[in-house]
Amino acid sequence: MFFVSTRDENGRKFTATEAIMKGLAPDGGLFVPETIPSLSSTFTMEKGYAYAAYEVLKPYFEGDESESDLYDICQKAFNFPVSIHQNGGKDTLELYYGPTSAFKDFGARFLAFFMENRLRKIGEDLTVLVATSGDTGGAVAAAFHEREHINVKVLFPKGGVSDRQMRQLTCFDGNVEAFEVDGTFDDCQKMVKDAFMDPTLKGLTSANSINLGRLLPQVVYYVWSSFIYKARYGKEAVFIVPSGNVGNSTGAFWAKAMGAPIKHIELAVNANRTIPDYLESGEYKPRRSCHTLANAMDVGAPSNMERLFNLFKTYDEFKKNVTSHSVDDFKIRTTIKDVYDESGYIICPHTACAEYVRRHFYADEPTVVVSTAHPAKFESIVETVIGRSVPIPETLYDMITRDCSYTEIGINYRDLF
Ligand SMILES: *Cc1c(COP(=O)(O)O)cnc(C)c1O
Repeated sequence: MFFVSTRDENGRKFTATEAIMKGLAPDGGLFVPETIPSLSSTFTMEKGYAYAAYEVLKPYFEGDESESDLYDICQKAFNFPVSIHQNGGKDTLELYYGPTSAFKDFGARFLAFFMENRLRKIGEDLTVLVATSGDTGGAVAAAFHEREHINVKVLFPKGGVSDRQMRQLTCFDGNVEAFEVDGTFDDCQKMVKDAFMDPTLKGLTSANSINLGRLLPQVVYYVWSSFIYKARYGKEAVFIVPSGNVGNSTGAFWAKAMGAPIKHIELAVNANRTIPDYLESGEYKPRRSCHTLANAMDVGAPSNMERLFNLFKTYDEFKKNVTSHSVDDFKIRTTIKDVYDESGYIICPHTACAEYVRRHFYADEPTVVVSTAHPAKFESIVETVIGRSVPIPETLYDMITRDCSYTEIGINYRDLF
């Protein structure tokens, strides 16, 4: 099994381990499987989620230098529940029972245990640099905390993250350091880029969402939940995915390509309309992002689009396989309120985008809305809309009540070292 870059016409081949340890392909493209493998004939759900994850991921690691460690990595990474909220076939896949209460825990934890395993074997150390505007940094910090051979430096913009997000970023000690940058998120990203360009700095890597090691584990819960749905209702469901950089939804497309029983995949976006506009006009125009209530999806130039364009090579093919609708802040608020008033179920602003799309475009279809974060992470929005407090998960409570520690720095990347 090999991986190639989305930009390499000559098709230079990499193993999964090479792709994951590199992050980005040498030509600046993203790693994709040469061909997407089929689900293994031995795939079973009977031995639990971590074992099923191993079965789904195994074909991507066939002949790979980490193949024999994959089972162990899956057992360590996927030690929290994946839950489906049943509602007569209009179900919701709750991906927020990991340590930081959002779906990014799946990818970040797999990547952390994978890298630790590899570095231990080759006896090397790495420093992970992450610039964050919110959720990514927390998931990466939590996942890499206490992993051996790895130091993490998390950069966040002063005043640019919510209070709870900041507490999640700064509650760690040991191998995870947080830096409050006196600048914007763009400054933080530039500092990371500058550090990578500096030839005197060695052993740096990134853990951002384009890393194959974060993407592959996002295939697993689609395979898992689509089989459960099919067994329960005798039908294949449309999966509606709240999307920003489209990493989560790329996982869904790969799961479908592997043979998982998925009828269709819909990308629900916020007021950042790059993808719906492309579907309408046939012209792809990345742009600056605008700020919305579903802020983890505030993306104007989705980084994983390159992977979707690689999967669906022409506009016609893309249009046949991908649909997308944009949901504005007003609709996000009313959807959170409607769902709560009808059933008492509480959803976050990202999930609300997908729920809105379900109600307006898939009312008569079997559907699964993908819920990407626990509503308590976005309590300042959700609580004002529903008029009550949202119970906070224990792991989240534990993180945000620990002592904060961070270093204040300017916008020169040298201050990180
Ligand atoms: C990151 C994130 C998203 C967007 O996921 P992509 O893979 O970037 O499309 C949606 N919701 C939440 C809560 C997130 O943290």
